[in-house]
Amino acid sequence: MKKVVIVTTGGTIAMTKTHDGVVPFAGGNSLITQIPKLGDIAQIEHVEFSNVPSPYMSPSMMWHLSRLVQEIVERDDVDGVVITHGTDTLEETSYFLDLTVKTEKPIVFTAAMRNINELGTDGPRNVLSSVKVAVSDSAKGMGVMVCLNDEIHAAREVTKTYTSNVATFDSPGYGPLGIVDEDAVIFFRKPLLRMHIDVEGIEERVALVKTFTGDDGRILREVKRLGYKGVVLEGFGRGNVPPDVADVVGEVAKEIPVVLTSRCFKGRVLDVYGYKGGGADLVKRGVILGQEVSAQKARIKLMIVLGKTGDREEIRKYFETTRMRGELQI
Ligand code: ASP
Repeated sequence: MKKVVIVTTGGTIAMTKTHDGVVPFAGGNSLITQIPKLGDIAQIEHVEFSNVPSPYMSPSMMWHLSRLVQEIVERDDVDGVVITHGTDTLEETSYFLDLTVKTEKPIVFTAAMRNINELGTDGPRNVLSSVKVAVSDSAKGMGVMVCLNDEIHAAREVTKTYTSNVATFDSPGYGPLGIVDEDAVIFFRKPLLRMHIDVEGIEERVALVKTFTGDDGRILREVKRLGYKGVVLEGFGRGNVPPDVADVVGEVAKEIPVVLTSRCFKGRVLDVYGYKGGGADLVKRGVILGQEVSAQKARIKLMIVLGKTGDREEIRKYFETTRMRGELQI
């Protein structure tokens, strides 16, 4: 029988309702491993990493989780890893591990939208399905996956789309990698744009600033003064910002890397618009195009890349991986 290590970090899956609201409780994580039928699918080992709501998850915790999971997957007796996590920031931690853990073994993040004592709780079912994915031969080499509601998503593509519904995880513009259907784990496709970044440490001081209509750039300008070593700027559409922000982008980009993303959740940012504040103008001012990753994921990537290099043009290579405007497409 294959062996799966379940690493628990907390989240609603390990919470219960009290008079104060839904909160973590001691022992919540261990209940996850006591799900009936789990033992029929795999030999289970439980490792508790933390018991926190996922808004408490920090870059340093992500780094330590990544190192722990790297050690686990290097063990000969382990076939796969399932990680339980709160849904709020699951897409960030799973992407962090996708970029930093090197293995062909399946790593599957899962969670719950309904706490353990709620009618129709989804936690046990999600853990069961995730363990099925973790022991599946077809899941090898798929990178870090996210499995909830019997859908399997790529960590790089998935996002939480619904504040309350169990069908909250989706990969807009991509769709799921596959599904769990009863005992079958079925993949439709492979995630082709994955990247591994070999680092010894990360730069945690990376900010995320979202622009808005009428923005004069004062918030973005503060980022440098506050000691951040990099910033992700979430712009509009193809990767555009208001004109006053463009000047500030130029100032800030001279000192720290500025990665541009879009508030749209489908498509790439590109150097298309040449007006002041348009993507092409911002590239001339030193911006790095985040391409198709969301702002929150670009921030995760920038923290990791900064662990490797502080050179803007080197950093650019990690983000602008596909064709730029004007380059020959074959
Ligand atoms: N607020 C919770 C968390 O992310 C939500 C959840 O787990 O579904 O920890």
